[in-house]
Amino acid sequence: MRTAVVTGGTRGIGAGVSLALAESGWSVIAASASREEREAFEPHDAIRVCHLDVTDDASVFSFFEGLDRLDGLVNSAGILRRGEEYDVVVFQQVVDVNLTGTMRCCVAAHDLLADSSGAIVNIASMLSTFGGPLVPAYSASKGGVVQLTKALAGRWAEDGIRVNAVAPGWIETEMTKELRDDSERTEAILARTPIKRWGKTSEVGALVRWMLSDEASFVTDAVYPVDGGYLAM
Ligand code: NDP
Repeated sequence: MRTAVVTGGTRGIGAGVSLALAESGWSVIAASASREEREAFEPHDAIRVCHLDVTDDASVFSFFEGLDRLDGLVNSAGILRRGEEYDVVVFQQVVDVNLTGTMRCCVAAHDLLADSSGAIVNIASMLSTFGGPLVPAYSASKGGVVQLTKALAGRWAEDGIRVNAVAPGWIETEMTKELRDDSERTEAILARTPIKRWGKTSEVGALVRWMLSDEASFVTDAVYPVDGGYLAM
């Protein structure tokens, strides 16, 4: 059975990815940092829930060393600190989770993925394309995730590893709750989204599942939006 690790896999987009994979016959390890969150997650039979803090070098490397096989890695762990990211300490924390955390997991998973000719999908953002004035660290980290994806895709193709990213638009998760509760912001977002609604985590999960599958065997170095058309406007 194919095995995938999904970081941040017990909530929001990561949980949507975990479920999409589990429903298609993957064995999934959904990893996240906080115990409360893992306890709140009701997994599918094919999902095993684990602790993993992507900012902890030693834990990340020992986590992947403990696996027998790995066919897919999805880096969904992410944080955003709206209004606080001009504080350099906060800036570094956000980059450490979103960008360096992605790199850590990719490097730690490399040998297992090379053994299985596996694939990586990183979760980018629309803010990989344009900057968010209230979230400089988030914007910088997500821009970095796209360039990291491309660098690894170029380097690791010779090892049989495909590396792609998806760039979700406005998706209904905890991260966007504050925005969804603000009717003015919601109105502005939906006005610019040609498909006039928020996206669902299952819709991101379906795209990630395809990118990990053999149907995408000639796809690497790609960044696919899943945003209801927001970026095109
Ligand atoms: P949520 O806040 O709902 O989930 C974030 C997840 O990341 C949680 O599972 C959280 O687990 C995990 N996480 C945070 N820090 C760490 C850490 N140090 N180590 C391991 N896991 C961690 O957010 P979303 O589901 O909305 O976001 C998921 C990804 O999608 C992020 O990368 C985000 O940037 C991206 N994204 C989201 C969009 C949206 O509209 N929602 C749009 C574009 C991109 P825990 O709490 O246990 O630490």
